[in-house]
Parts: sequence; C-alpha cells; structure tokens
Amino acid sequence: MDHQVWEHARLSATSDTGAAKPVVTRFAPSPTGFLHIGGARTALFNLLFARHHGGKFLLRIEDTDRARSTEPAIAAILDGMRWLGLDWDGEEVYQFARAARHAEVAHQMLAAGHAYKCFATAEDLEAMRAEQRANKQPLRYDGRWRDRDASEAPEGAPFVLRLKAPREGSVTIEDKVQGSVTVNNSELDDMVLLRSDGTPTYMLAVVVDDHDMGVTHVIRGDDHLNNAFRQLPIYRAMHAVEGGWEEPTYAHIPLIHGADGAKLSKRHGALGVDAYRDELGLLPEAVSNYLLRLGWGHGDDEIISRDQAIEWFDLAGVGKSPSRFDLKKLENLNGHYIRATDDARLADLVAPRLPFEASESQRALLAQAMPALKPRAANLNEIADGAMFLFRARPLELDEGAAALLGGDAPALLAQVYAALDGAATWDTEVLEAAVRTVADDAGVKLGAVAQPLRAALTGRRTSPGIFDVLALLGREESLARIADQMTKA
Ligand code: GLU
Repeated sequence: MDHQVWEHARLSATSDTGAAKPVVTRFAPSPTGFLHIGGARTALFNLLFARHHGGKFLLRIEDTDRARSTEPAIAAILDGMRWLGLDWDGEEVYQFARAARHAEVAHQMLAAGHAYKCFATAEDLEAMRAEQRANKQPLRYDGRWRDRDASEAPEGAPFVLRLKAPREGSVTIEDKVQGSVTVNNSELDDMVLLRSDGTPTYMLAVVVDDHDMGVTHVIRGDDHLNNAFRQLPIYRAMHAVEGGWEEPTYAHIPLIHGADGAKLSKRHGALGVDAYRDELGLLPEAVSNYLLRLGWGHGDDEIISRDQAIEWFDLAGVGKSPSRFDLKKLENLNGHYIRATDDARLADLVAPRLPFEASESQRALLAQAMPALKPRAANLNEIADGAMFLFRARPLELDEGAAALLGGDAPALLAQVYAALDGAATWDTEVLEAAVRTVADDAGVKLGAVAQPLRAALTGRRTSPGIFDVLALLGREESLARIADQMTKA
C-alpha cells in the first residue's frame, strides 16, 4: 500500500469505526478438518472488513487440541484460503507455539489476585456435579477454592488456575450483528485458565492471542457468542493488571444452513473448499462472490467483484438469520464467471480435467474451442466433458443417443453433406452453414434433420456446441473423415 492510500485508510478507519487504532481482524480456524464453506465465509468477511478500513487481516491456526489438529488439515486450510484469494497479512500465527505466553498471562492474573489456585480433584468436582444434578441446579464450579488459601491444600497437590470472575452484575455485548446481548455474571463460573499440567485453556489462549495480535474486531460464527462472555472477563482482569487490554468489537455472524433449513452438514454437500475446486470444478471468484452474498447484501447486486466488495462491505449489511446454502445458485454464478473468464485461463484450468495428458497443440485447440464451449457450462467439468469430441479417435464410439440419430435415412443424408462440404471453397462457418442448408433444402427436410445426424457423426453425442463451430474446430480433413465413417459409401 503506498503512503497516500495508507493515510486515507487510517482516516477512514478513524471515522467509520470511531477508533483511532487501525482495524485488525483475524481468522482463527482449528485445524481439525478441511476449510469448510462456513469458515471460508468467516475468513472472507474478516478480510473484507479489514481491507475496507485499510487495516490488517491476520490468520491464526488454533492448533492447541493436539489430538485432533493435523498437518494435512493445516495445509488444506492454507491452500483453500490461497485459492479463494483470502490473502492474510504477515505470517500465520500458531497458537500452540504460544503456550508459554498464555501461561505467563495466567500467572500475572494469579499474582494480581484475579486468578486463584483450585485444588479440587476430579472426584471432588464429580461429587459437586452429582449434587447439583440432584438439586436440579445448573452444573457450575461452585468457587470452593476462590477464597481459600493455597496453604490449605495438601503438600504438592496438583492445581489448576481459575479466573476470579465477577459474581455480581452482568455483562452486555454490543454485538455488531446480534445487537445488545446481556448475560448475568451469576450464570458464569470461575473458568479454568491453566490446567494442572500447566497448559492453557482455549478461552485463555484466544484472548491472549487476540490481544497480542492487536485484534480490534472479532468477526466469527455465532456459535462463539457464548464464549465472548467468558473471554471478556479475561480482558477486564488483564486490563486491571497492566492496562492496555482493550475489549474488541464483536460481530457474531449466523451459521450457514442447508436448503432445508437445518445446520449445514455433509449431507447438504458441506464439502471442504478443495472439493468445490477439484470435484465441482468451480472458479474461486464464483465461490467467493457466492459466500459474500450468503448472509450479506448490497441491494439487489448479485455479481460483486472483490474490489467492489471491499468498497461496500460493512457489518451492518450482515443479516441476523442463518442463510441457506444453495448449490444451484452457486453453479449459476459460476456459469457467469466462466463466461467472463478469458479463454486461455479457462483452457489451463480445464486441461488437467481431461482424461489424458493434453499436448501443446491439444491445449491450443481447447483454448480455441472455448468460445463455443463456455456459454452453456456451469462448471469446469462440463467444459472438459463438452470438449472431448475434439480429441476422440476415429471411428468415434457413439453413445446411445447418437447411434439412434444415425439410423434410417441418416447415412444417405450424410453422404450428401459430405459431397457438399467436400466442395466448400473455404472452411469457414458461413460457407459451411450455406452448404448444409442447401443439402436440407434439396432433401426437403428441416435444417435440424440434417444437423442432428451430422452432430452425431462429428461428436458421437447428441449434444454439442453449435454444429458449424464443431465443423470449424475439427477442420476439413477430420470432419470429412468422421462423416465418411457414418455415411452410406458411394
Ligand atoms: N478456533 C475457533 C473455530 O475454529 C474459532 C475461534 C474464534 O474465532 O475465536 O471455531
């Protein structure tokens, strides 16, 4: 970013957010699986918000769950984000590597009296819960070590560090999407910050990392709204300890649901982002545009470029109710982006989807065919499939539909087509069209009655790009040979 733009960005950050600090957002996936569509949308919203305000968009990999975090999942997340152009600023942060820092903060709270050692054993806690269950009380830690001195515990007994959370009053979050949400402190217990083995809990890690990364806006799924009420007391405690722990602005965005209104699951095609690319053959711009429109709107605009999205994005436009994922709509949008994409890039994307290794000249032919192939395609697989006629070897294998078209009078008609085309002075579409029309007129049939068997002979299928485009792409020699294969020989 050049200096002038940056200055402007800072100014707009000040005026739009009321904060003098530049905006910092982050996406914080747990690498326990692929990057799913909901996560990608969360990342996109964070990126757009940051870019809109000239701020930074950071990435943090929350890999503290050692049993469930995997390297392939991290790789899939990074790969999926790059594919979607969700370019984060700087190096990604790995949460597990920061465990010592998390523990340090917990000990600062302990030293300042905002946290305490709890020596309750697993059996103690189980007995406490059993009693709460029997009394139909909510299951919460009862604060039994909150006001006791550590010297009352047996020598060398293991302990956890718990937050000394406020017991009176309530916490209100002015959430940018959910509005004002209040929880009474009496509903929250003194949560664990550090486990007895000294490892930090997730709640602590998130707050420390967000603080250290300078995160000003936490934009995430609304399944984390409850966590915000547990995370805020940590900010407040640390603010009391050393100052400078400003609470972030929260925006909890509704989850994505399937077309049937139920939470999106595998059953709805909730695939990893990689599957949208590899299996469904979608373009990243289309997926990104679709995700943007899923839960955020700008009037009736459907096609929104990344630049426009950055210009227009605001949290006020994020709806409060869950949006429904609709693969058909996504594919329609993809069709639009396919048609807007230049032929060379499409050929590069389609070539690896052909069932053989395409040579240089085959790739060139593919690019040349693109204007004829792309108007109807909803995804790259359909283009690859539609392109196959270009590369089939003679005599063509006919599918059932094509074979049916080549019965009856067709071989005789094709013989006339052969003669007409063989006599064509040049091999361009107008001349070819005139020649085929003459054959139809002479035979007293409609153009379609000639074009359909011709299509079957040339492509082995009953659907293809326009028949004159097919002739032009195959060229004189190959076209005539394919026709000859199916016609009544003189
Ligand atoms: N790691 C959490 C998740 O993947 C997100 C935590 C957050 O955004 O605060 O759901």
